[in-house]
Amino acid sequence: MPSVVVVGAGLAGLCCAWRLQRAGFDVEVLEAAPHVGGRLRTQRVGGFLVEPGIASFTSHDRSLHSVVNHVELASKVRSVSRFPDAVTHAGTIAALRPVDDPLLFRSQSLSAVDVVRLLRLRIEWMRWRKELAFAPVHGPVGAGRQAQTSNGYARLEAQSLSSYLDQIIGTALRKKIVAPLVSHALGLDAEKISAAYLLVLINRVAGARPQYLAGGLDQVTTRLAAQLPVRTCCEVTSLETQSDGARVRYRVGDREGSVVADSVVVALPGTRVADICPKITPSERGFFEDVRYARSIDVHLMLREPTNIPYRSICFPRRRGLGLYGVQVADVKSGAVPVDAGMLRATLGEATTERAWQASDAEIETLVRDDLSITPIGHVASSRTLVNRHSAIAPVFYPSYLARLARFNGRLDRTPRLAFCGDYLVGNGAEAALTSGMRAASQIAHGLA
Ligand SMILES: Cc1cc2nc3c(=O)[nH]c(=O)nc-3n(C[C@H](O)[C@H](O)[C@H](O)COP(=O)(O)OP(=O)(O)OC[C@H]3O[C@@H](n4cnc5c(N)ncnc54)[C@H](O)[C@@H]3O)c2cc1C
Repeated sequence: MPSVVVVGAGLAGLCCAWRLQRAGFDVEVLEAAPHVGGRLRTQRVGGFLVEPGIASFTSHDRSLHSVVNHVELASKVRSVSRFPDAVTHAGTIAALRPVDDPLLFRSQSLSAVDVVRLLRLRIEWMRWRKELAFAPVHGPVGAGRQAQTSNGYARLEAQSLSSYLDQIIGTALRKKIVAPLVSHALGLDAEKISAAYLLVLINRVAGARPQYLAGGLDQVTTRLAAQLPVRTCCEVTSLETQSDGARVRYRVGDREGSVVADSVVVALPGTRVADICPKITPSERGFFEDVRYARSIDVHLMLREPTNIPYRSICFPRRRGLGLYGVQVADVKSGAVPVDAGMLRATLGEATTERAWQASDAEIETLVRDDLSITPIGHVASSRTLVNRHSAIAPVFYPSYLARLARFNGRLDRTPRLAFCGDYLVGNGAEAALTSGMRAASQIAHGLA
């Protein structure tokens, strides 16, 4: 039986290992942390289920649903209301009501002119939607071959989302709705991503129902790991592959060891890959040096009373004196908070995150409370607060990143017997990580890595 070492037990690595094991490979997963799951962690604090983001996914997320079925958690999938998001506008909270197509927002905060402008974005999306399909397991990532060779696509990909939206829907509407939604969903300023990536995201959510897993998404990683040989507290320090096999060196406490295998899958955040793989090819190294992640701070406010807010998330348009992208409301998830309690998760904006990174938890909590008090949410009385700093929340699909990714996927100079997976190779979130894991498993199984 051919052997494969998978480095990293996040969603991508575990999913890849599961698929390889099912295909008959002898698999072992090495994980540096004492626990599996990577960035997907759930904390249980006195009856509150504290999850990264609101740990949501959509009814269209095929990789995620196939894994959830496999680990027999399908009965715990719940759908959120069809109108889950809102935006603050003129001192009120205005619901955003997608009519099957998220570009046709209906909201009390939209004028007739706004709706017509958003229609222009819809036309743009329809023009590109086939080419910008959200990462199928087999096939191109982000952009189809035809798109990659067209001038229109090249412009779309090289352009920042902000300048593109200014052309298509105008600055006012960008600032009022689209930029706040994107920033809150991705945890970074809309200026940072490419126009093409917005259309990839729209493709992903168009017509889909928002969903979550009752009891926490970490059940998926825990159950997957239970079926696999996983060594935790085992930090991989370097790995080398040759045409006839691979050697992986690791550290457990102050003890060093190594393992040989026929192939290796590196399932780490893209920024960590080059450090442990000294012999990857120049084009691979060049790609990994250009991978970026956003960092973020969020604050969970555990409340003594329900919020009575009927939305999953409320985004705040950027304005002077307000450092938050928005809040997510955990009460909408059944079982996430004790009866008669509520929970808000406030996300700091990118600039505020940078300023507050070294601040104490108490200072960050004060900042969040002060900011919320000038929004329609007002003062909140919480019984307990949890501040989380995330050094890598999500990969940044900045202008020209999709083109780099396409070149990386099509590269001819590949390091033998080495495959890579992780969300940064597909998109944002759990679905992207799982899809990348399936793809890496398929490359190994078909002898392409
Ligand atoms: C705050 C937050 C909110 C989020 N909200 C959502 C959401 O609502 N919906 C959604 O779909 N997604 C969300 N995500 C994103 C989602 O969690 C990630 O996209 C996904 O978990 C990434 O998985 P991965 O396997 O690619 O990487 P990771 O989870 O980063 O896995 C990499 C693993 O490699 C291990 N590792 C690192 N170095 C070594 C080494 N040298 N040796 C061995 N192991 C090593 C790490 O410990 C880790 O376990 C959120 C993420 C964060 C942080």
